Amino acid sequence: MVVIYPGSFDPVTYGHIDIIKRCARKFNTVIVAVLNNKSKKNMFTIEERVELLELALVEYDNIEVDTFSGLLVDYTKEKGCTTLIRGLRAVSDYEYEMQMALVNKKLDDDIETLFMVASGKYGYLSSSIVKEVAGFGGDISCFVPSIVEKSLIKKIEEGMD
Ligand code: ADP
Repeated sequence: MVVIYPGSFDPVTYGHIDIIKRCARKFNTVIVAVLNNKSKKNMFTIEERVELLELALVEYDNIEVDTFSGLLVDYTKEKGCTTLIRGLRAVSDYEYEMQMALVNKKLDDDIETLFMVASGKYGYLSSSIVKEVAGFGGDISCFVPSIVEKSLIKKIEEGMD
């Protein structure tokens, strides 16, 4: 079974990686689909987000990193895969995730969204909080792989020039 794990991954954190690895143990193939949304202000370009994911997941041969733009339902049709994975952290994720899952189902009844509960140790982690901590010079080494940490620090320093 092939599943699609869509998101912004701006940048990938240990929380995302945990979900991806757990999926890779349960499903034959996991397609990590990075959203190329020009109207959303991301810190990393689509190419950078893909590269960081590929580097973080290099040892897994049943994980693919891809990009998509536009409607997720159109992308799922293109890939011939209608099972989506989303991670659920706190209750605060629930409302938005529920809305997205129901809208996607309305657009295409074949789509099923499966929710994977975040690991306790990453339940508080998000790309935004990592960027915020890094912006104030905090240690983010326990939140992201070292390659992401280095890229994030570089981005912040470039922004200061
Ligand atoms: P989006 O912009 O679509 O919310 P994100 O890159 O922030 O994309 O997240 C992609 C998916 O990963 C979402 O389902 C989100 O809930 C989940 N996720 C993010 N951080 C974590 C975490 N720490 N643990 C588990 N799931 C997470």
